[in-house]
Amino acid sequence: MMLFRSEWLKLVGASTVGSLALGFAPPSQAAVALSAEPYTLPELPYKPNALEPVLSAEIVSLHHDKHHAAYVKGLNAALAGLEEARKKSDFSGVQALSRALAFHGSGHILHTLYFANLSPKSKPPSGALLDAINGQFGSVEALTAQLTEATNSVAGSGWGALVYEPLGRRLLVMQVEKHENQVMCGAVPLLVIDAWEHAYYLQYQNRRPDYTKAIWSIVNWDEAGRRFEKATAA
Ligand code: MN
Repeated sequence: MMLFRSEWLKLVGASTVGSLALGFAPPSQAAVALSAEPYTLPELPYKPNALEPVLSAEIVSLHHDKHHAAYVKGLNAALAGLEEARKKSDFSGVQALSRALAFHGSGHILHTLYFANLSPKSKPPSGALLDAINGQFGSVEALTAQLTEATNSVAGSGWGALVYEPLGRRLLVMQVEKHENQVMCGAVPLLVIDAWEHAYYLQYQNRRPDYTKAIWSIVNWDEAGRRFEKATAA
């Protein structure tokens, strides 16, 4: 998912995710200094068993410690490969490296957002986000119905996402394929639901709709609301 830096900072600048955990420079420098540090895997914002019974500790641990970690590793490898290509002035691998950058980079961002937009203490949406949902979709139920079906019907591996699209200033539901396809550039993800089998298969097997039905009881709407307020602050 493409995000311009200013939007990314607005999105995560002061959220539970934290800028340091994402490998950016400390907040005091973030507005002026670009980071050359490798990306890092953020800690889970809760214990692996905190989302039971909806998501087992085993799923959450594997998902974070193995899958999410692999995207961070892949992202850093792509960046290192591009740096090497520049040093050698050999761009014969730039197509594959660019693809890896988008895939692993979006994978890292989406998983960071995903774990932070789940919580054992779920409350209904409120405030500005609730008003926007009602205005845009008619009701929370209409939004969740569309987002659930978008997530259920992703072909292969992908995501359902509620996004804020800043050019048209509106909320949209996106159906993301893999991590980086079928997204509008610059759209800011507010709430993302992982539809890759690794997110649910150990517990729900092939029953993706059972997983997407159950997940609503652990959605962190407060976090989605904070992302919305940052995305619309400018
Ligand atoms: Mn995943």
